[in-house]
Amino acid sequence: MRRLAVAAALLGLSACAPGGCSGTVPPTSPAEPEGAASTPQPPAEPPAPEPVTWPHEPPGVLYPGSGSGATDPTLWAAGMRFPLEAAPAWANSQVYGYGGWQAPGPGGQCDPRNYAYPWRDNFCETRSWSNSKCPAGRGHQGQDIRPATCQKKVHWAVAAEAGRISSIGSYILTLLGDSGRIYRYLHLDMAEVNALFPTPASRTVTRGQRLGRVSDDFGGNATTIHLHFEIKAPVTDGETAAVIFVPTYTSLVDSYSRLLNAAA
Ligand SMILES: [Zn+2]
Repeated sequence: MRRLAVAAALLGLSACAPGGCSGTVPPTSPAEPEGAASTPQPPAEPPAPEPVTWPHEPPGVLYPGSGSGATDPTLWAAGMRFPLEAAPAWANSQVYGYGGWQAPGPGGQCDPRNYAYPWRDNFCETRSWSNSKCPAGRGHQGQDIRPATCQKKVHWAVAAEAGRISSIGSYILTLLGDSGRIYRYLHLDMAEVNALFPTPASRTVTRGQRLGRVSDDFGGNATTIHLHFEIKAPVTDGETAAVIFVPTYTSLVDSYSRLLNAAA
């Protein structure tokens, strides 16, 4: 009888006693009274792994004194691939970070404090560029992201989605995604970009395909070593349709979370 009950419990079958049947016994239910000889139990399900996370400020919270952030919480590029191939990456400010011209204190652009969490939004950071998504009507049009280390021509930028490289300028690569969104990558090693994509036929890319390595190209000048990443999305405002700069940070947080959790 006991052997049958144990077998039934192990198989998750109905347990029947002289008083009747009591329904399905969960396989993990104790099958033996206290003090009985131990019986083999099915292995417990391994606990689901804790999602990997990282310290990051909320969207729209800029460096103190660097302007007012976008209040729009929309996930504008749901499902996009994080635009750098590998973690870690550091979303923060070039101008208001160490080594920038509005730096919080002495230190160079390679200061370890620039290569550390938390992330911080810098869409809408104070600039003269027109930007309808900023409270001021103007501001930084994308997000600055430092790659893992302060080395140029090492860390790959990759396609946020499948599409076509529609232009390669002196410091801007433009990707027209199949969704209709436009992604702009600034400050890659443009000599390499041109070598990788020499012809129109070569410029159709897959999601996650390498586009070039992060550098400091700025059209004959140099900036800091970082990827400036922009998203432009089709937006209809009443009768007016336009492709405009949209807040990047929420889409970057979403895609980086997937990258950290091996679900990029
Ligand atoms: Zn920038």
